Amino acid sequence: MRDKLDIVDFNTLFKSETYEQQRERKREFEAPCSPSQVTETLEYSQSQEYKDKNFSRSSLVVNPAKACQPLGAVMAALGFEKTLPFLHGSQGCAAYFRSHLSRHFKEPVPAVSSSMTEDGAVFGGLRNLVDGLENCMALYKPEMIAVSTTCMAEVIGDDLQAFIETARQEGVISRDIPVPYANTPSFSGSHITGYDAMLKSILSFLYNESKVKLSTEEDLTKLNVILGFEPYTGNFAEIKKILSAFGLEYTVLGDHSGNFDSPAAGEYSYYYGGTKLTDVPKAASATGTISLQKYAVKKTIEYIQGEWNQQIVSTYTPIGIGATDRLLQSIADLTGSEIPAELQEERGRVVDALTDSHSYLHGKRVALVGDPDLLLGLIGFCLEVGMEPVHIVCTNGDKEFLQEAEELLASSLYGEEATVHNGHDLWHMRSLLISNPVDLAIGSSHLKYAAKDANVPLIRIGFPIFDRHHMHRYSIIGYQGTLNILSLIVNTVLEQLDQNAPEYGFDLVR
Ligand code: SF4
Repeated sequence: MRDKLDIVDFNTLFKSETYEQQRERKREFEAPCSPSQVTETLEYSQSQEYKDKNFSRSSLVVNPAKACQPLGAVMAALGFEKTLPFLHGSQGCAAYFRSHLSRHFKEPVPAVSSSMTEDGAVFGGLRNLVDGLENCMALYKPEMIAVSTTCMAEVIGDDLQAFIETARQEGVISRDIPVPYANTPSFSGSHITGYDAMLKSILSFLYNESKVKLSTEEDLTKLNVILGFEPYTGNFAEIKKILSAFGLEYTVLGDHSGNFDSPAAGEYSYYYGGTKLTDVPKAASATGTISLQKYAVKKTIEYIQGEWNQQIVSTYTPIGIGATDRLLQSIADLTGSEIPAELQEERGRVVDALTDSHSYLHGKRVALVGDPDLLLGLIGFCLEVGMEPVHIVCTNGDKEFLQEAEELLASSLYGEEATVHNGHDLWHMRSLLISNPVDLAIGSSHLKYAAKDANVPLIRIGFPIFDRHHMHRYSIIGYQGTLNILSLIVNTVLEQLDQNAPEYGFDLVR
């Protein structure tokens, strides 16, 4: 008989005698605080005085709910077929973006770096970029290379356009290979700004460079769809289902669902799916563009409106019955179609489910963290089901987002107690959760520490979700996505009820 493998979880392993002894020996050299000092400091960090100090800080950010600009640029690049994201700057940045995206999607993330070091910082990164382009053509054979920058290249002011032209003149990259680029410094903006910059750059480059701008009848009746910085691959499937129910032909501009949900078929390829490069110039002739995010793709929308002269419908993340109704009506108006019966039926089923769960959700106080579009979608959903948003923290919202969020909250009695903390971080949220408790917190995995300190259950929605599996494979948009969110929230509430129930209240039926 073979020995059974005994793989011990590290939490169990660290409780073993060997590790306990090691830890004690290590402590002797660390001069740690005494247990009473730890307790005292923890208590102070939960006081009103500490909260006031926390909210008065102006030059320090602690645990912001955002990632770097080029991370968004990598996601945008992976939305196009056979496209290799190329990061001009330090190699460590590329490692961070790849691991960050990998930990969320549980997929390998192809991206290369020009690996600038000290000499690049002094003399400029031209050689790094030229050699990098040559290497990636030789090794990975992409059909497009999408170049974005990290901070080092931005601080020294590398000229991407001139560098790429030099690479072409030196013959390391053919003129047939599109190389769109975006400046994505992380000392401003966030992952959504970087996504926007790269998407706009890819669309404008492919459109401007295309020799064939003639469109067929079919192109003229198609619809363009943008999902934006989309951490849910399930949302792509959901919008495709909706558009197919309408019987519409469409082009998703930036479809990274294939690259972030590739099959394990025995052989790995660098490239899975994505928008066809030849579809982009044709997309300029489409009936119109529907965007399921507005704050994450502001510049792209401006470009499509201005240069392609198209009708645009842009909405924040359509979560909930009302938001989905508006989305479907917009699609119907834009294309002159009827809302399909099967979607109306699906709506009815979700309304029924909402009614079933309503009594457990009504009046629940919630804290929300996320990107602007997701937050607006979640606020709308909470108000719709009678949940009361109390603390809303957004690190990367602008004034327009703040105004829209406040108007949305003011439209319902359930929004009366809410405050939107725009430009704030998760350390602010910790103080809020402790000083003014809520029933539930909703946000990414990063919120788990503040939620634990405040003893509030965390519902993981958004980006990144590192510590739960497969949640990104389910949709959170449309009627089906609303049902998925409802199920996630109500079952967390019911789990809490069971955990806190006395013996006589540990009910079989809820
Ligand atoms: S902040 Fe700048 S240097 Fe740091 S990881 Fe982000 S892009 Fe790289």
